[in-house]
Amino acid sequence: MARPAVGAALRRCAECGGYEYSGGAACSVCRELVDGIVESEWSAFLREWDADRDQEAALAAMVVSEPDRHDWRVVDAALDRLGCSACGERLGRGPVGCSGCDLAHGFRYAAIETDRPGVPPGNEHAVRVNVSVVRRPHATSDREALARRLTLPLVLVGFLPSTEEAQRLSALVKSSSTAEATRLVERAIEETVARGHVGVWGAPGKFISSGHE
Ligand SMILES: [Zn+2]
Ligand SMILES: [Zn+2]
Repeated sequence: MARPAVGAALRRCAECGGYEYSGGAACSVCRELVDGIVESEWSAFLREWDADRDQEAALAAMVVSEPDRHDWRVVDAALDRLGCSACGERLGRGPVGCSGCDLAHGFRYAAIETDRPGVPPGNEHAVRVNVSVVRRPHATSDREALARRLTLPLVLVGFLPSTEEAQRLSALVKSSSTAEATRLVERAIEETVARGHVGVWGAPGKFISSGHE
């Protein structure tokens, strides 16, 4: 399974107990699900090019040289297949301050982000930023990484936090322990899902439907 469909019901992860995709690096099931978002698109890309696994590195180098011509998942998968000449890690996922990785990480945002039908504009960008942070958590503060992984399941099914909601959640995550933040964000997610339709995720009472039903 590549990723949940727009409007799909959220499911609990059997390993970490949170919503699927939200467990971060500590949960092997969630980690594989998140990697699968990127990997399934790469497999499709290989099939499209009729490429063998031994041609992957050459294809990856080509993709990374022109990130603005490929879907973000293909670019992220390509980066994973290349080593950083400066630190030896997978390109773009090395330590903060590695010039090779910082440069590659910046270029990944030139990639194409295509919103799925029925989602508020910018949802795909939110998905890609959250996935990027979840897969490279050491490059951001632990509170930011927590907020990104906890909200990933909701953006995957098509919601988009409004600026206000994103700020409210970020403040809530910063002021709470990890367990408390998890509980509060999950409650916010439940309230949003209970309102029923995919759209912009606003403060209570200010939910704005995307108009696509
Ligand atoms: Zn999990
Ligand atoms: Zn590096």
